[in-house]
Amino acid sequence: MAWDRIRGQDAARDAVLGAAARGRLGQSYLLVGPDGVGKRLFARELAKALLCENPPGALTACDRCPACAQVAAESHPDVLFLRTPDDKLELPVELMRTFCARFALKPTRGGRKIGIVETADDFNDESANSFLKTLEEPPPGGLLLLIGTGTDRQLPTILSRCQLVRFAALSHADLCAVLAANGVEDAAKRDRLARLGAGSAARALALDDDAIWELRQKLVDGLTGPRPAFQPLAEMWTEYLDDAGKDKGAEQRARASLVLQFLIEVVGRALKFAHGANVPVPDAAEAARLRAFAERTGPDALLDLLDRCVEADRHIERRVQLALVVDSVVEQFTRRA
Ligand SMILES: [Zn+2]
Repeated sequence: MAWDRIRGQDAARDAVLGAAARGRLGQSYLLVGPDGVGKRLFARELAKALLCENPPGALTACDRCPACAQVAAESHPDVLFLRTPDDKLELPVELMRTFCARFALKPTRGGRKIGIVETADDFNDESANSFLKTLEEPPPGGLLLLIGTGTDRQLPTILSRCQLVRFAALSHADLCAVLAANGVEDAAKRDRLARLGAGSAARALALDDDAIWELRQKLVDGLTGPRPAFQPLAEMWTEYLDDAGKDKGAEQRARASLVLQFLIEVVGRALKFAHGANVPVPDAAEAARLRAFAERTGPDALLDLLDRCVEADRHIERRVQLALVVDSVVEQFTRRA
């Protein structure tokens, strides 16, 4: 069953499908929640369910007909996608205008036209203003699905014209289930990836990659070692970001945030060591290094370091230049050593 692919979001699903079952599906929804918890998947699944040529049940997609395949491939003529280009920080007004013009055209197949705005966090005043009329009065059969990370990131003009659907961070059990469904067979590995996934399925899945663990090893060893050198460590981290592609802003930010998640995890462990707690660490060599790091650094400085890492993660979300974030974090580690 197609909806089963979306784990841990029963409340969101029931709200929208319940309204649809009563014939009261709204015209514009804003799906908000952390990155990587199933909002995009949900929007696609709903589009498929509404456009499926051979639905096996009410509001359920068959996942086999041409319409389902086209929605999945983003090539269905009646499903429009809009997202911020990788090299931009805001949704350009020109793209918004084109999207609205196409959305206003009659559906080519059935009675439905679905518009999915995947980066609703990125509206600027201009692109939001050019969208308001469409958002307020979509054409007959029109359904708009906007996707954002939080209500505080939305312009009031957009927020007030949408029905809000909240998506929650995923539980550990749901993350493990997603990892299992995606072929991660080792239960201990699933457990570790789920913990580092911090509520995000996308992040947990991204961590299932040997190259990331190699980088983690080198970077964490370096930063928590006795004499960390600024230049090579900052370069190592930057290189990993650049490998995503020079103009892949969103992917670079995701990678930078992933590295911070590693650092937050190890500094958090070191802090527990500094307080005399015995915390499990996956390998003995790392445990020994972290103990030494904790002893050298002391609990106050570790707590400060932890704060800096968490703050840096917020800076990434706010689109602070990544080079500045990397330099400031690496500097925090090297300065103290
Ligand atoms: Zn179908």
